[in-house]
Amino acid sequence: MPVRVNEVRVRRFAEYFAEIGQVSPFDFCSAGEGTLFPVRGCAGVIDYFFFVTAHQFGFWHLDGGRYGGPMIAPVDGVPRKGSDFIVACATRAWNRDPLFFAREELARAGEEGWAGIFRDDAGVNPLPMWPEHREIIQRYAAWLRAAPRPPAELVAAANAAPEPLKAFLDEAGKVPGYAEDPMRKKLQLLAIILENRPEHFLRVTDPWNHRPIIDYHLQRSALRTGLVDVDDARVLADLEARRLVSADTEQDIRSAVYHAVARLVEQSGMSVAAIDYFFFMNRTRCPEMREPDCPSCPVREFCARRTKLFQPVFRTEAY
Ligand code: SF4
Repeated sequence: MPVRVNEVRVRRFAEYFAEIGQVSPFDFCSAGEGTLFPVRGCAGVIDYFFFVTAHQFGFWHLDGGRYGGPMIAPVDGVPRKGSDFIVACATRAWNRDPLFFAREELARAGEEGWAGIFRDDAGVNPLPMWPEHREIIQRYAAWLRAAPRPPAELVAAANAAPEPLKAFLDEAGKVPGYAEDPMRKKLQLLAIILENRPEHFLRVTDPWNHRPIIDYHLQRSALRTGLVDVDDARVLADLEARRLVSADTEQDIRSAVYHAVARLVEQSGMSVAAIDYFFFMNRTRCPEMREPDCPSCPVREFCARRTKLFQPVFRTEAY
């Protein structure tokens, strides 16, 4: 295999996580985040997250076969990057009508209303993969129209099952926008959102059914920290040059990172959500477009500091 888990480094990171104790996972609410997410205890929040989490992908530009930079566009006067842009746009729609993402309202909005969700302040839809987003909305709206159980009922049924998380993953894993990725990144993310929101919509009593959530930040972190090693010089050159990689290369890297994080969870005793949040926050110290800030990084002593490495540049609807 050109990419493999570095067991020694995984063990050292697991010791670090075990030493610092349980890190609180993010609650995906408004506290400390301005108005990015819907506030606590309001109508339509489960529908909102079912809709918006399916669109957490593709918010970066490709330029001449290389990574060209993150997508940044203003929403309500604030420049929003990538994932934050998606969330801010959906929250704007939710603020106007908390039931916008519910079955009847979403159907009523139709193609024109759906196209308006992701417009920036200039009235432009800047999403680099908008055709893919539109197609997911069409299939999701059709599923929602016909679904015997809309999202809130699906979550309630899962909560009544012996293993609520497993029941949720089984059912929500059939929904368009979530069903396509064998590694279930958006689905696992939706589960930790619904579990960790202040309302605790999803009552998880079977945490052993959580799986790693592998997005591009985590792949970049795992490559730089040395949680995984790449043995192929050509692949390393592509990653350093931020060139488009093949589907096989992306699969090799993502799969190795998945196994490394699974081991990290196992050995450290930390939850998937807490580890995911640690690496999500690490994106600010170890970012895409600036030099990593190694001197102020808590893992600097045992990180491989392969700072030139970048996540696989690859178009996918999975992350
Ligand atoms: S900032 Fe430096 S020390 Fe921290 S994870 Fe990135 S490369 Fe490693």
